[in-house]
Amino acid sequence: MEDFVKFALAKGMRKFGFSSHAPLPFHTSWNMNLDDFPCYKKEFYRLKEKYVGQIELFLGLEVDYIEGVFDANTDLYDLSDIEYKIGSVHYLDPLPEGGFFSIDGKFSDFKKRLDVVYNGDIRQAVERYFEFSSNMVRKGGFEIVGHMDKISQNGMNCSGFNVKEKWYSRLVTDYLELIKAHGLMIEINTKSYIRLGITYPDIQFFPIIKELDIPVMVNSDSHHPDKITDGFDEVFKLLKKAGINSVMELSENGWNEVEF
Ligand SMILES: [Zn+2]
Repeated sequence: MEDFVKFALAKGMRKFGFSSHAPLPFHTSWNMNLDDFPCYKKEFYRLKEKYVGQIELFLGLEVDYIEGVFDANTDLYDLSDIEYKIGSVHYLDPLPEGGFFSIDGKFSDFKKRLDVVYNGDIRQAVERYFEFSSNMVRKGGFEIVGHMDKISQNGMNCSGFNVKEKWYSRLVTDYLELIKAHGLMIEINTKSYIRLGITYPDIQFFPIIKELDIPVMVNSDSHHPDKITDGFDEVFKLLKKAGINSVMELSENGWNEVEF
C-alpha cells in the first residue's frame, strides 16, 4: 500500500483512494481474505498519519455483487469507517464445479466457462451481466458503479458480439438511466486504455452520460503502483470532447464536483 502512496506522490496526485477487492464469504484469487481486512485498515491509518500534509488518503473498497449471494450491504465485516464503496459485478451464474462464471481473466478460460454456463451464447451472458448489474444498483449500499460494461472486454472476442450493436447499446443505455435514477456516480475506468484503447464504459457512451448528467470519476483500477494514472491524460481529453468538464472528488466533507 505504501508503494501506491509513493507513486501517487511522484505522479503529483493530491488525493489517493484505496479500493481493494473486498472480502467475500469464500476464497478467490483476487479478493482480499477476510482475515486480512483488519490489517488493510491498520496499514491505511498508518499511511494516512505518516503522509499527512503531503497527500490526502481515503479508505475505500470495491465490493462484489453476486446475485442472491453477496452485496455491499453485507455485515460480514465492519464497513463503518469505509469512506467510499465501488459496486462491481465480476461473477455471474454458478459453475457446475463450484464457484461462479467470472467475466474477467484470460479469454480462453472465459470461452470455456461461456460454453458450460451459457451454451456458448455471449448475448445470454451479456444480458445476464446487465440484469445482475441492475439488481446491484437497486440494492445499493455503495456510491460508485465500477467498470459498468466490463464484460465487453472478453465479450468482444466472441463471434456475435460487437459493442456497436443496437441491442447492446440499448442494454447499456437502460442501465445508465437506472444508475441516474438511483443517484449514483460512475467511474470512467482507464485500466485497459493503454493496452486496448478502450475505457469502461466504452467511449461511445460518453455523450449519453453527458446527456443524462451522471456524475463521473476517473479511475485507473490499477493493481500495480506504477500504473495508477495510466490513460488519464487521454481519457480526460475524451471526456472534454464529449462535453464532460467535471469529475467528482472526495474530501473530508464528502463528494464535490470539480472542474478539470
Ligand atoms: Zn473490478
